[in-house]
Amino acid sequence: MILDAIETKKFGGELSDGLIQGVVAGYTAGEVPDYQMASLLMAIFIRGMSYEETLALTRAMAESGKTYSFPECVDKHSTGGVGDKVSLTALPIVAACGAPVAKLSGRGLGATGGTIDKLESIPGFSCNLSKERFSRQVEEVGLAIVEAGDLAPADKEIYALRDTTGTVDSLPLIGSSIVSKKAATGAGHLLYDVKRGSGAFMKTTEEARELAELLVRLSEDLGIDASALITDMDNPLGSAIGNALEVRESVLLLKNEPVPDDLAEEVRHVATRLLELKGIPGGSTAVDNALSSGSAYEKFREFVSAQGGDAEALEDLPVSARVSEVWAPRGGYVAHFGASAIGNAALALGAGRKQKGDQIDPGSGIEVLVKPGDPLQQGQPVARLYGEREAEPARRLVLEALKISDEPVEAPPAILNSL
Ligand code: URA
Repeated sequence: MILDAIETKKFGGELSDGLIQGVVAGYTAGEVPDYQMASLLMAIFIRGMSYEETLALTRAMAESGKTYSFPECVDKHSTGGVGDKVSLTALPIVAACGAPVAKLSGRGLGATGGTIDKLESIPGFSCNLSKERFSRQVEEVGLAIVEAGDLAPADKEIYALRDTTGTVDSLPLIGSSIVSKKAATGAGHLLYDVKRGSGAFMKTTEEARELAELLVRLSEDLGIDASALITDMDNPLGSAIGNALEVRESVLLLKNEPVPDDLAEEVRHVATRLLELKGIPGGSTAVDNALSSGSAYEKFREFVSAQGGDAEALEDLPVSARVSEVWAPRGGYVAHFGASAIGNAALALGAGRKQKGDQIDPGSGIEVLVKPGDPLQQGQPVARLYGEREAEPARRLVLEALKISDEPVEAPPAILNSL
């Protein structure tokens, strides 16, 4: 079976539904060895897959383990970025507006953070929920976030193999991987936030649009009501990068206190779109009310407590006491504060993992103190570094990330496109 698949794809042929199902089932059961699966993945990477093959692969991976069903619920998925705390903020807002959320989240790898790592910086918080507890919490609190666990186990195995065989950046493999997990979790309404730019998988708007279209089409064909946004990830989102720092910034936003404009704009936009998807009228007014009345923050505290976290700790979540500043080498205007280099700087301080299994330091990370378009004076602090590790490599990366223009610069829009 696997040899048939390899031979077919090697010459650019089309894999049948049955062949795809057999290979996915065989690999998940440990009957297909890694070297044969890696060979097939590389053939797919080089030859591509038709839409029908991609849909069959998505379905086979979605059905490879437990499947849940929450047709009334909304969910959002980000393709990953630096300082991306939109799930932490937009989801409690929509839950407070009456749209229940059933979400599957992942951990960060490399320079992009993961929602679970961020939430685990809250003492006691856990995303390891049984199906029963997850369902009960969706019902009672209206917001629950679970770790992949038994959902779409085939994707977990295949993703780990792709990560070590140079086969991650393939459109059909990325699309099927993302949608299989979402289909297994079973939320009925989904918004994809496809990031574009130096700190994202997709470097150009065209690539991001192609992925967004694929995600929406696969989801719709699996019975999920889906739409997508394309958002900027050339610069980090908001100010905080790093786990506890990002939760602190999320708490500020949820308390309706000032946060950078790009973050506030994107969170409001995502929350409004999620309410529209769910058919709740008056979206943007409802979002404003949830923030100004305190109900969004109250929902976040309720969700944190329900998952074992200490909601009181949110008032002053600990971060590293070892802090240093990076100063502007010259005056001008901030043209670009490169998300990729800032993400790598946060990684160097201990905020992420270079390899699976690496320990992260939840209190480490970076606060960027200036955004594109801001005027800059020589010697002005542009970033604050937190962490117990040697700060010099991160300082160098932050300076590398900072591009200064002599001419005034317009801040880039946070939302680039929507479909
Ligand atoms: N995120 C996923 O879940 N899968 C991919 O293949 C890439 C990003």
